[in-house]
Amino acid sequence: MLELGPDDDLFAATLGGMGLTGVILWARIKLRAISSSLLSVDIDRVEDLDGAFAALSARGGPYRVAWLDLLCSRPGRGIVTRAEHIDGGAAALHRSWGGATVRSRASVPARWPAGVLRSSTVRAFNELRYRRSPHSARGHVESIGAHMFPLDALDSWPRLYGPRGFLQYQLVVPPDRTDVLRTAIEQLRRSRIPCYLCVLKDFGPSNGAPLSFPIAGWTITLDIPRAAAGLDALLDRFDELVAEAGGRVYLSKDVRMGPDALAAMYPRLEEWRSARDGADPERVWRSDLAMRTGLVPA
Ligand SMILES: Cc1cc2nc3c(=O)[nH]c(=O)nc-3n(C[C@H](O)[C@H](O)[C@H](O)COP(=O)(O)OP(=O)(O)OC[C@H]3O[C@@H](n4cnc5c(N)ncnc54)[C@H](O)[C@@H]3O)c2cc1C
Repeated sequence: MLELGPDDDLFAATLGGMGLTGVILWARIKLRAISSSLLSVDIDRVEDLDGAFAALSARGGPYRVAWLDLLCSRPGRGIVTRAEHIDGGAAALHRSWGGATVRSRASVPARWPAGVLRSSTVRAFNELRYRRSPHSARGHVESIGAHMFPLDALDSWPRLYGPRGFLQYQLVVPPDRTDVLRTAIEQLRRSRIPCYLCVLKDFGPSNGAPLSFPIAGWTITLDIPRAAAGLDALLDRFDELVAEAGGRVYLSKDVRMGPDALAAMYPRLEEWRSARDGADPERVWRSDLAMRTGLVPA
């Protein structure tokens, strides 16, 4: 058993290391103390991607996220929120607002059929969501649970996608490469592959670990039905765009990348492999993902 700290190479290789450096038995992590489960939320409706970038960059709380509608006639319009904790006396004024988690109110049945979730249904839902949101609101009070985990209200929601499920593709590109996001959204629209949920966020500086996903820049996640025709070819093209821009795809969500894409996106791969091999020279720790992507030789 090893005890590692931030100055150890193996510590850095373990952050984002996909469980391939060994088993973490315990960890000491720093938390931020808060005194209530409430958030003060600023809300802005935006007309397009430029509006989303501007609203995400505006002054406000640290928890920033843009929900974008990619199914409407103006793909990229959406709702941006910036939230921060309500502490101390102000929180006491809103005691009845709920907690840090969400209790599920309904459940999707196990035998939910394919094809019920369609573009037309999601488009109508998105329209309603967009229109019900205020154009602009400041200091709107919400519980952490309702704001951060809205999908938890519907138990087993991934079943909505039918037996083949969905794929979540998440990429990050440096701050000056917003063109990649525009191109990806445009290519997605032209391909007619439906994206039922798109979320845009900004990342701060990376933690310096060789395989860690976040780098400073813009990240989007795209939730797409796994059964969509042409999806793999489209995402292969996205991989190339992202790698060329100096960005990367999130391995924790990946189900399809190969070794070439991985090597193009993670330039410190050899450094990571060397730290890993030092800890596990017999290459005992492996996974399907590790062998598919070449993180560990098959
Ligand atoms: C649809 C979807 C949506 C997501 N949304 C978000 C999001 O909004 N925000 C976000 O931050 N993340 C998100 N994620 C990513 C998610 O947070 C990561 O996949 C996270 O690692 C899942 O945690 P888990 O406990 O299920 O880990 P697992 O999936 O069990 O493990 C994740 C990795 O850690 C390794 N591991 C697990 N336990 C140990 C251990 N004891 N020691 C060493 N390695 C270990 C595993 O081998 C694996 O490689 C999402 C993922 C998906 C698929």
